[in-house]
This record gives sequence, structure tokens and C-alpha cells, in this order.
Amino acid sequence: MFERSGRGFLVVFSAPSGAGKSTIVREVLRRKPVPGMELSISATTRPRRPGEEEGRDYYFLSEEEFESRRERGEFVEWAEVHGHLYGTLRRTVEEALEEGKVLLLEIDVQGARQIRRAFPESVSVFVAPPSLEVLEKRLRERGRDPEEDIERRLEAAPKELSEAGYYDYIVVNEDLEEAVRAVEAILVAEYHRTCRFKVGGKMG
Ligand code: 5GP
Repeated sequence: MFERSGRGFLVVFSAPSGAGKSTIVREVLRRKPVPGMELSISATTRPRRPGEEEGRDYYFLSEEEFESRRERGEFVEWAEVHGHLYGTLRRTVEEALEEGKVLLLEIDVQGARQIRRAFPESVSVFVAPPSLEVLEKRLRERGRDPEEDIERRLEAAPKELSEAGYYDYIVVNEDLEEAVRAVEAILVAEYHRTCRFKVGGKMG
């Protein structure tokens, strides 16, 4: 009686580096709170880290390749983050929407603004650390990045946190399990919005 619209939707996640966004998104993808969830694979000019795979973690591009694709309008959003270029391919987003997928995008605050503007029906979630002190502790404890990268990420954090007010939801990651459950709840609620169905009325 109530058929789904057939069109998917986008869920954007941003956070200061070290807030736990990727861990939360990975766990939510594993638990599958709603059908058809997929992770958007971005393109980047950042060098590949040990253990990362082409096409699974990112599409790793040279600056020339990134720029020529950008000029051809192949990105729905792009930004320079911590000295490297990152972008979401138009093809990734359009295919997911056409196939009725719930596409999760892990992108920075500049990219999130572009997505909100281009896709007003998208959903945005800001993942925040409980405090800047906790953020610093987490960045150091994960021991992945050189000191200068940690400092650059910490310097960028206050500006990123000041963007939280533009998002639909804020999830403070104090306790990982609670944060994962909050994101699952957001996805379930968003999946059931009237605008996701073929019905008349104000949102249909
Ligand atoms: P990392 O290099 O640690 O994987 O990611 C660094 C930052 O770039 C993170 O804040 C991440 O969300 C952001 N990022 C990753 N992919 C994209 C993208 O396609 N677009 C934008 N705007 N930011 C991205």
C-alpha cells in the first residue's frame, strides 16, 4: 500500500580528525540498521597509507588527474583538507540514488556544505569529541600520524567544531557503543520519513 519512492538518500558524516567518525561509520555499516547501505568511496591526492587499497579506501589520483576530473565536472563536491585534495565522484552519488541506496559519505565540513546545497534532501551528522583534550589524546594514542600532522589536525579542530550548527544531527562520541546506537537510530528514523515514500501530502 505504501511504496518506497525508489530513490535513495545521502547521509553525510563530518568530524574533526580523531573524533571516531570512521570507527562509528564502519560499525554501523556492519550492523546494517537499514537496507541498502553503502559507503561512498572518495577520490584523493593523499598518498596511500600502509594497508589502504585502491577502490576500497579511496581512488588514489595524481594532482593532474584530480584537477582534470574536477574541470570536467566529475565531482559533486571537493575540498582541500590537511594539504591534500579530496572529492566525491558524481557517478558514485548518482548511481546510489538511482538504485535506492542509503549512501554514507565521510567528508569534511567544506564538502558537507556543498552536499547540503546540492542535495537538500540529504541528511548530515556531525560527530564531535567530548572535548578538545580527549581529541588530542585520541590522536596521539592511535599513533598513526607524524607529530606535524597531529598538530595540523588539532589546529583545524576548533574551526571544524564551529560548523556543527549547520548539521541535522550532532553525535558526541564519548562512549563508542552509545554513539553507534545514536547513528543507527538516526538512520532508521530517516529511512522512515514520509518523503522516502510515494504518497501525496506536504512531503510526498
Ligand atoms: P583521511 O586522509 O584521514 O582519510 O581524511 C582526511 C579528511 O578528509 C577527513 O576529514 C575526511 O572526512 C575528509 N574527506 C575524505 N574524503 C573526502 C571527500 O570526498 N570530500 C571531502 N570534502 N572530504 C573528504
